[in-house]
Amino acid sequence: MIVGVIAVQGDFAEHEKMLGLLGVEYFQIRQAKDLNKKMDGLIIPGGESTVIGKLLRELGMMDRIKAMIQNGLPVFGTCAGLILLSENIFNDDNVYIGTMPICVKRNAYGRQLGSFTVEAEFKGIGKIPMEFIRAPVIDSMKDGVEILATVNGKIVAAKFGKQLVTAFHPELTSDLSVYQFFIDLVST
Ligand code: GLN
Repeated sequence: MIVGVIAVQGDFAEHEKMLGLLGVEYFQIRQAKDLNKKMDGLIIPGGESTVIGKLLRELGMMDRIKAMIQNGLPVFGTCAGLILLSENIFNDDNVYIGTMPICVKRNAYGRQLGSFTVEAEFKGIGKIPMEFIRAPVIDSMKDGVEILATVNGKIVAAKFGKQLVTAFHPELTSDLSVYQFFIDLVST
């Protein structure tokens, strides 16, 4: 198995570290030609969705990534990655990749709760640490989207087919379980 990691901005290095710890092979996607490489799964990191979105567009990658996901490529987006995958953004007129039938609210916790860590239940895994940094929340969703985690009544992780999104950053903890969840999704 080999996983491509979008590496134009954001905390892609932390994702790579987690994949390395699980013994999963990976490569960086920095330009359109990197999308020609064989990959079994794709990771879109946390960072700044507006910046990653702009770069993906300028580098001619956005439509290709969208088509690859629509054709069944498993994808895992964290935080900004979740925003980029959302079909709708409540407080932003942009739509980026837009393959996940959810509506997301950016920076949903405001300034005061900009960053925080909690332990909460993740469906099928149990309690895990969740680290939030200027995080979005999933505001609404269409049929077929499965909720995987909520924190204080807000949806912070979901799955739709082979698309997995978390508002928090598993790449910033030492817990590998969400990666294992994604790897299982890629291999089934
Ligand atoms: N607030 C960022 C955005 O809107 C996401 C933050 C993150 O990825 N940690 O893109």
